[in-house]
Formats: sequence, C-alpha cells, structure tokens
Amino acid sequence: MGAGLGGLLCGRILQERGLKVTILEQAEEPGGALRSFMADGIRFDTGFHSVGGLGSGEPLEKIFRPLGLMNLPWEQSEPDEFIRTSLPFLRLNSFWEEEIQHVAKPYEKSVWRLDGGGKCFVDALSEGLDIRCGKKVVEIQDGTASCEDGSSFKADVVIADLHPRTCFSLVKDHVRPAYLKRLFRMSDGPEILTTHIILKEGTVPFVNHSIFIGRQVMIHFGEKDEKGFARSIDLLSFREGEGPSPEEMISVAQERLPSLGANALKYWQESSGGSAYGILKHSRADYIAPATPIPWLFLTGQSIGLHGILGTSVSALNTCKSIKIWSPERAMASPFPEGKDLGKG
Ligand SMILES: Cc1cc2nc3c(=O)[nH]c(=O)nc-3n(C[C@H](O)[C@H](O)[C@H](O)COP(=O)(O)OP(=O)(O)OC[C@H]3O[C@@H](n4cnc5c(N)ncnc54)[C@H](O)[C@@H]3O)c2cc1C
Repeated sequence: MGAGLGGLLCGRILQERGLKVTILEQAEEPGGALRSFMADGIRFDTGFHSVGGLGSGEPLEKIFRPLGLMNLPWEQSEPDEFIRTSLPFLRLNSFWEEEIQHVAKPYEKSVWRLDGGGKCFVDALSEGLDIRCGKKVVEIQDGTASCEDGSSFKADVVIADLHPRTCFSLVKDHVRPAYLKRLFRMSDGPEILTTHIILKEGTVPFVNHSIFIGRQVMIHFGEKDEKGFARSIDLLSFREGEGPSPEEMISVAQERLPSLGANALKYWQESSGGSAYGILKHSRADYIAPATPIPWLFLTGQSIGLHGILGTSVSALNTCKSIKIWSPERAMASPFPEGKDLGKG
C-alpha cells in the first residue's frame, strides 16, 4: 500500500526475488514525495534534490545497482561546497546519532543529483511493477486491503508505505493497546515550504549542488538550459509557526544569489502537506520495527528507521528482510532464502 519510494523499492526487491507484487496507490501516479510536475514547460521536483551514498561501494549504490537504477543520468555534485554549506543543516535535522551516521555522513563521501529529477527516477523504479493508481486504501483486515472505490485485494503479506499512524487507523484486526499507544504518542518532524521560481532566461548561472543558508533556506537549482543557465530554482524552508513567505525566502536566498529577486519571472509556494520526513527520532528508543504485531502486516517508508532517499531505501531493504524473519513457515514469503544470517534480526 503506497507507491512512494518505500513501497516501490519493496515491490522491486520482492518481485526480483520471485514474489507476485501488486501496489495500491491513492494518487493518480506513483512516486509520493518524489513526484515531479510541469509548469510553463519546466520540470519541477517536490522531494528529490540531492542524494548521498551513491559512490562505488557506498550504501545506496549497493541497493540501486542490482535494480538497474545506477544506469540513470546521475551527476556528482561538487562535494566540498555542498558539505561546507549543508552538513550543519542535515545534522540539525537529525537528533539520533545513528541517523546522523547513516543519513548525513554518506553526504561527506559523495553527493549526487539526477539529470531528469524525480520523474526519471520514479519511472525507472516503477518499471515492471503492477501499480494500481487511484486506489485509496480505507480498511485493512485479515490480509485484505479495501479501497474507497469498493475494490479489495487479498495478499499473504501486506506492506504499508503509509505513515504508521495512518496505517493503524485503517487496521481492523486486534492490535495490542501498548503498541498503538507508543505509535500514537510519537511526534512528527516539521513541514517543508517550497517556493518554486521560474527565472528570466539567461540570468542565473546553474550550480550543480544545493546551497544551504544556515537552517533557514536551501537553494536547489532546477533544469539547466543549453547555455548553462538555470531555468528554475526551488527554495526550501522548514515551517515553524506561520513559516516564511515566498518574498522572505527570496530575500534570504539573495545573500548568496543577489540578483534572484530581479530575475524571478514567476514564483509560488507549496507545502509538503504534513511532515516532510515523518516521525521524529530522538534516540534509538524511537525506532519502529518493520514487523508489526500482526504477522502478515509490515511497515516501510521514512518513518520506519531512517528518512530521506538513502534512509527510506535502507528501511525498504530491512522491511523485505523482516518478512523472512516473521513468516518462516511460508516458503513463498522468503525473499532472502540464502540469507540465513538475517534470521537473527
Ligand atoms: C520538500 C521535500 C524535499 C525533500 N528533499 C530531499 C532530498 O533532497 N534528498 C533526500 O534524500 N530526501 C529528500 N526528501 C525526503 C524524501 O523525499 C522522502 O524521505 C521519501 O521520498 C519518503 O518516501 P516514503 O515512501 O516514505 O513516503 P511517501 O513518498 O510519502 O509515499 C507514501 C505513498 O503512500 C500513498 N498513500 C498514502 N495513504 C494511502 C492510502 N490510504 N492508500 C493508498 N496509498 C496511500 C501516498 O499517496 C504516497 O504515494 C524531501 C522531502 C520533501 C517533502
């Protein structure tokens, strides 16, 4: 359930291991936070800007390569500049030392962006998967997901790439109250506001890495034209209280791009519509296991373990591994038959 990064990756990994996978997605297209959209002929990304850990032998490369995702047009960013400007921001956003190690540290080794953005990534990730869009799950019971349009789907194993609280508000099977109490007590991280800007042609030189101005604003360069100028720019900021207006964000960004205001042809603001990174983790005690008290139900996504593209991918792999641990009696639900060592959890 859910064709975000977590759901799509679980689908691909399990399908490669011989399981039959169907993904139910409420939206009209897959991708979740990684969706792209077009405005005035320019592609804008929502939650896909820069990624760490893709260099040879690094954690994300190990997950993406077997799925053919390393054949995409990845571009390595200039790491020195990125790290100098972004690492303090990434660290401030992670409270849990283990999360810092896994999510922020890989950025120290290499940073990447994708020429083609989120759409290109989601298209490649969705390849060969049976994804049913427009299927909003409204009830989950006894391995059956029932959708708003009256259809229902039964499976031996159900994976929820939904916010865990959303998932358990739909589950009708009995779940022990202590599990639910802990889940519903956990708080979410902040929302992100994005100001999307279409630039006057040939005015702002394209830069292939994001620029962070403290914790206030992240500047992300969008599409590049043939002459090496940016066609668009996104400014991202956490919403704290009311949150900064588009004009305030532009004014902060002008510290690094003084002519931005004068060259912004058109701009508008959008919100991530809820927490950008899911459940906040202050310590290891906030870890949510992919296996749930219901033997056939598993969780994945950014609220489980780690957040971001790297963290969500690692979580997806852990979810797939957990299926073997929690369903040992089902031979077909054993996607890692050679991985006996995974059994220790
Ligand atoms: C503005 C922004 C910028 C970001 N920038 C970066 C970045 O530069 N680098 C980075 O590494 N990470 C970035 N991230 C984080 C990254 O995008 C996310 O961590 C990741 O995409 C989360 O994937 P997910 O599968 O956990 O969740 P989601 O993408 O939210 O997927 C959940 C899916 O489930 C579907 N769904 C929900 N309810 C139902 C239901 N009832 N029935 C059926 N389907 C349902 C949703 O429609 C959605 O498609 C950014 C996030 C945001 C918001």
